[in-house]
Amino acid sequence: MSAHLQAPKGTRDLFGNDVRDFAVLETVARQVFSLYSFEEVRTPIFEHVELFARSLGDTSDVVQKEMFSFTDRGERTFALRPEGTASIVRYFIEQNLAVKGGSHRLFYMGPMFRAERPQAGRYRQFWQIGCEYFGSAEPSADADIVIILATILKSFHIGDFSIHVNSLGCKTCRQAYRETLLGYLKGKESILSAESKERMTKNPLRVLDSKVDGPKLGDAPVMKDHLCGACRAHYGQFLSLLTSASFKVEENPRLVRGLDYYNGPVFEVVSPLLGAQSAVGAGGRYDELVSSLGGARVPAVGFALGMDRVVLAHQKLEKSALPVDGNGLLIIPMVDDALPVAFALAHELRSLGYRVPPVSAKKKLKNQLSLAVDLGANWAILIGEDELKTKEITLKNLQTRTQEKIAMKDVATQLKKQRTVR
Ligand code: AMP
Repeated sequence: MSAHLQAPKGTRDLFGNDVRDFAVLETVARQVFSLYSFEEVRTPIFEHVELFARSLGDTSDVVQKEMFSFTDRGERTFALRPEGTASIVRYFIEQNLAVKGGSHRLFYMGPMFRAERPQAGRYRQFWQIGCEYFGSAEPSADADIVIILATILKSFHIGDFSIHVNSLGCKTCRQAYRETLLGYLKGKESILSAESKERMTKNPLRVLDSKVDGPKLGDAPVMKDHLCGACRAHYGQFLSLLTSASFKVEENPRLVRGLDYYNGPVFEVVSPLLGAQSAVGAGGRYDELVSSLGGARVPAVGFALGMDRVVLAHQKLEKSALPVDGNGLLIIPMVDDALPVAFALAHELRSLGYRVPPVSAKKKLKNQLSLAVDLGANWAILIGEDELKTKEITLKNLQTRTQEKIAMKDVATQLKKQRTVR
């Protein structure tokens, strides 16, 4: 097939178990969010490119090299959203929600787009579920956000995972720490990679995060030891609230986030089942973002989880299957004349809640019966010449392999009876 007719590099078609698992994950997340009174928002898949450039920061990888941007016929430049927070903050500002005061809790789910180098668990179109909690500067809001993420992951069954946490401090203490770190890194410049040298000038905190250079910098000063009194107290309370709710976290003083807008507590959740791309979700506090995009000074904290990876971890533990709920049923017209009766019966039984795939008079009985098994059907209804004459059908129980004749008008009642006996 010509390359242009294949799915673009780094994208994939979801089908079967994947789609089913995505849908279940969405349902689980909606249930958990509703327990914390979060409301869903659906924003456009593309936004003005400036929104991302201004919110994610010019030094972030996403803005520098990963955005899918395009110019429309009116010479306006847009980008496919690379993440969800910028759009939700734009929505928050545009709707003037800050004027109402109090706190606002919003969540979203949908596809995101980044021109990254594809590999297992890393795609150019991937799905995120995320939330943003506006209007609370309290450590309990940070703790709630971590707990919501962990609860979704637990409820969806992805096995063990670890929650890594750190604090990035506020503008003031981070600036002082940045200087201290820069001084340290200058002394090590000769052993640093070109990428780290570039990061040093733009965002030195990210040098510690580097897979190549991080291990060489074991004695580097860490943010945690340079937090101001307020940031240290906030971080301490965040940790103790998580402990009081029995959530185990691991402090990782080198955890920084790839996006520039974070301050205060940040976190990342990692699954041991996933190899190189093991982060299943991450987030943190971002108190300056709303005002830096032209809104009021409103503190906020949020997370995003990667649905593709969460589903991957889940599938390593459990294979999802078609529902075996006793509702599947196949109707097989054995002769052409039986089609109208079969067609009408299929319609009637679906309206009663049975899962009945489309009826066909053209397929061989044997093929149809094996299809029934594939579909997780419990019964087959056969309608042939004899059945048309006697106005009865043959009801085959595919599990017990028994069959019986039933008057056509009694099919629904008989099925219901059998179902309660099962
Ligand atoms: P981020 O917005 O970079 O903090 O990412 C949050 C979560 O989204 C990560 O922990 C991953 O689970 C997921 N994620 C980010 N980028 C990708 C990608 N390219 N492909 C698949 N999942 C991703």
